Amino acid sequence: MSAMRIRWWGALACLLAWVVQAQPVAVRDLRIWTAPDNTRVVLELGGTVEHRLFTLAHPDRVVLDISDAVLKARLQRLDLPRGPVRAVRSGVRHHHDLRLVFDLDHHLRPRSFLLKPSADHGYRLVLDLASAHQGSAPVKRAREMLPKALRPVVVAVDAGHGGQDPGAHGRLGTREKDVTLSIARRLARLIDQDPAMHAVLVRNGDYFLPLRTRMRKARRLHADLFISIHADSFRDARARGASVYILSRRGASSEMARMLAARENAADRVGGVPLGDKDPVLKRVLVDLSQGAVIEESLHVAQALLYQLRRIGPVHRRQVQQAGFVVLKSPDIPSVLVETAFISNPREERLLKDGHHQQALARALYRGIRRYFRDNPPMGTLFASRRHRIRPGDTLLAIAHHYDVSLQALRKANDLHGDRLQVGQVLRIPGDG
Ligand SMILES: [Zn+2]
Repeated sequence: MSAMRIRWWGALACLLAWVVQAQPVAVRDLRIWTAPDNTRVVLELGGTVEHRLFTLAHPDRVVLDISDAVLKARLQRLDLPRGPVRAVRSGVRHHHDLRLVFDLDHHLRPRSFLLKPSADHGYRLVLDLASAHQGSAPVKRAREMLPKALRPVVVAVDAGHGGQDPGAHGRLGTREKDVTLSIARRLARLIDQDPAMHAVLVRNGDYFLPLRTRMRKARRLHADLFISIHADSFRDARARGASVYILSRRGASSEMARMLAARENAADRVGGVPLGDKDPVLKRVLVDLSQGAVIEESLHVAQALLYQLRRIGPVHRRQVQQAGFVVLKSPDIPSVLVETAFISNPREERLLKDGHHQQALARALYRGIRRYFRDNPPMGTLFASRRHRIRPGDTLLAIAHHYDVSLQALRKANDLHGDRLQVGQVLRIPGDG
């Protein structure tokens, strides 16, 4: 190759590099979701960017500087949810850099990460604004509801999907995330009307929560049951009916269950949150062991729910299905996932949107939950005032202590001679009914 040609290629490469460099990356869209203790901002980008993040006080602001970028989203049309972000402003710096300023109500700790393109999205820059104070209101409220004597059972009601993860959608445009929230709210209301029960909504608004955060929240609230509400979808529009799922440690019980688990678990990827809290091997083994115990409990709940759902409409599968859902992987709380109906079936989509039907679904779920607790009362709850069904980990001494009866009286009432107890065995609690 001649020196002349090398110089020519070199010049072309420089020119190309300059053209590529000179093209600013478009910020095509900006969305904000507010959860009780986190606000998430997602910027849809035309390419990868370099950015810098810092906070300013008096008044509190978060400033995001993006190099070589131009704002194509219209901030005036931004639908700001109620939350700590009061306004978003933009400006141009050094002729080609973009500055975004978020005006805040109070100080928040920002964190940011860039997401690579996925199936439905290009590059995204995610900004998480976390409350500086720890603990959210619902946690405190649930704890206050736990007196030392007999307490109501706590049910964590999880509305599937939310925020940038809409879930499945129907032909009429119904989104799973909206339907699940309506049903969840109705169910929570029914539960709270029952003096022996207390509901906590895991998600109570249109925001995204990673799957692991959902179950962590349920655990923090000392929930006795975790119920995740969803709507099913299948390419064949004729598929119909409700299904109830529990966690399976070994493979899914049907091909459909496997597909569904893959889709619901993908919510974390849609939400774009890297699962930073990967459990070490030992922890996973321990979790697996204890899951064996609660899977049986979960099966009891699931059967009670399925029985009630069958009374109000068709069910897709008459048996409880098992699949490997991340959202159900709570080591110590019986957990179920309910696919209320097929949103992909036009008739069922219409039903899912209908308030009366939503209420009927919520009532069926409430009845199933109540039935489960009546038959399997957790220790120390209002359901357990007459008898106690042995759960994994129970000891005679602990039971006696909880119900404030002597060990002898408990032994005598149940004709027990040793300390051996069997899971599922029902003990009479003396001096009560
Ligand atoms: Zn779903």
